[in-house]
Amino acid sequence: MSPINSFLLQNNLRIAHNPCVSPDFCLDWPGLRSKVQAGAALTVYAKSRFETAAGFFTLIEDPATGDCAWRLEPARAGAVADGMTEGASLPDGATVFPASFANLLALKNLAQAFNPATTIFPTAAPRLGQGTLGIGARFTTLHWPAVEWAMSALEIGVTANQNSIPRELVYDVNAMLDGRLDSVPFPFIGTNVPEGHQGQSVEGMSHGCILSKLKTGFHRRGIAWSFNADHQPIGGKFDSREDQLVEGCVLASYITFDLSPELAQTKVADDAAGWVKAHVPADLVAKVRARVAGLGLTLNEAEFTRLLAYVWPSMQKMKRRDEKYAAARARLFTTEVGRAYLRELSIDELPGLTTPETTAIMLALCEGLGMKIHFVAPAFGFQKNMPYPDNAALRGLIEKQWAVCRQFESSIGFHSGSGKSAENYQVMGEVTGSRLEIKTSGRYTYEMGRAVFASRNAADQALWRDWYTFTVELALKGAFSADATEQKMARIFITDALEKSGRPVDVFASEATARAAIEALAPSPEHMFWFEYNFLYVLAGGGRAEKAALGDHSPAGYRQRARFYSVSDEARLNYAKLVAGYIIFLAENTGLASKPRCAGAAKLLAGYTSMDAFLGGISN
Ligand SMILES: [Zn+2]
Repeated sequence: MSPINSFLLQNNLRIAHNPCVSPDFCLDWPGLRSKVQAGAALTVYAKSRFETAAGFFTLIEDPATGDCAWRLEPARAGAVADGMTEGASLPDGATVFPASFANLLALKNLAQAFNPATTIFPTAAPRLGQGTLGIGARFTTLHWPAVEWAMSALEIGVTANQNSIPRELVYDVNAMLDGRLDSVPFPFIGTNVPEGHQGQSVEGMSHGCILSKLKTGFHRRGIAWSFNADHQPIGGKFDSREDQLVEGCVLASYITFDLSPELAQTKVADDAAGWVKAHVPADLVAKVRARVAGLGLTLNEAEFTRLLAYVWPSMQKMKRRDEKYAAARARLFTTEVGRAYLRELSIDELPGLTTPETTAIMLALCEGLGMKIHFVAPAFGFQKNMPYPDNAALRGLIEKQWAVCRQFESSIGFHSGSGKSAENYQVMGEVTGSRLEIKTSGRYTYEMGRAVFASRNAADQALWRDWYTFTVELALKGAFSADATEQKMARIFITDALEKSGRPVDVFASEATARAAIEALAPSPEHMFWFEYNFLYVLAGGGRAEKAALGDHSPAGYRQRARFYSVSDEARLNYAKLVAGYIIFLAENTGLASKPRCAGAAKLLAGYTSMDAFLGGISN
């Protein structure tokens, strides 16, 4: 048994209330196998049934543990499911296999070889490389049914799974168990939090999002969707573990390249021109120069060579990493469709607002290196979760970028895209003709807060109160911290909440006065301090509002996480409606779906009164 599965079993952290930690969706195969063979009552997901050359597969689950298995009805006696292991025969002629990660990879080959158009697995279908919505999960995976419902109702595929790795997801469960995870600075809380702060592993999440589609029957709708391994760090301190990053992301159909780790340690030579001459192939430089000039942009020679000298080390590493992503897919997957992936180049981490010239040079470099870029993310000066204040200025900025991107047939990726105004999204959609991606993530944690806040279930209410208190305590500690950034940010968040509630904001004379002011507020998910600190609660050991408790990958952290996976059906339905409603809002304003289609979906959504009916609405 793998170390992660024994860790989870020993601590009674089962998939039913703690999914996606292990890469496997069956922790105890001997246990599940005997239940299947004894004819125990298990959940059979009838809608999951799909065909391969070996026969029909159906997903089954033990509701008590969450362990899953595949039941194969062989196409003919003795039919073999290539690559599937640990099978057990049943008296009726069927075979059952554990839902292990290895079996999932084998199933992908079987399913895609039989039907290249299958939508069980994330793919790089052309439309997904033109316009999409990035539905991230900074938090849990509880939003997935809502994403499936929205794609189904709107009849558009989106980036239905998106996460930064290794920042948010555990990139390697063995590294986690060995205590080898790095940490990520969070300046606004004045500390470093262990990476993988959501608790789930990249493989576990890859696995879970596929099973979710099968359980709800979403795959029967024939709508292609993608999985974005977001902000894959290139170079710098990540060089030493790039092979594990590549291996973990093997089911991702869309890779975002983030050059910033290498850029952060690149020192541009004083004689940039000389350095470029010595290090960058002359024919590539000539090609880039000609391509950019062909777009009607005038290059400032000194700036051009400086930029080249600055980005070239990272570009080489990106190219090498890209070859590794391709090689891992070629090794594991047998079909063309199974190996294909989309690419995004994130350049919003470069200093300042991105100029059209910079975008052009970066895209021309990628073109010269033979890397098709489907999305490029320039910096527009967005603040996460804040509308852009000036729509006319935004239009001007996007128009200049779009004039370049369209020439490379690259769409624009809008990072920090959560929480913009309807008008902001309309401008993005209008200028690009909906050739865009809006990346959203933090929004779905906020919606969970609204969902449990509004629930009448006692356990949901207790979760809400504890969650809210956690953010109050973090905000108060922050507001009186010796760390200047932490203090400043905490006071901004508190002041905003007081101001919006019509209260005096001069409350920082002492911790007692600040506490009295905050405690006089009615708890609400609309308070900015709740919004900013909420996502770290999911893996805070014991739910404690202490820096040392954040991102706790021990059993205490996972038991905390289980509280969210134990919310009531009422909270789940509230949540599903809020998430789906937000996706409809994004699709409508960006023009990814038509207004009548969005209006129809919104009406349908409003009518659901039970989670079962909602889930039933995903596919017939
Ligand atoms: Zn970015």
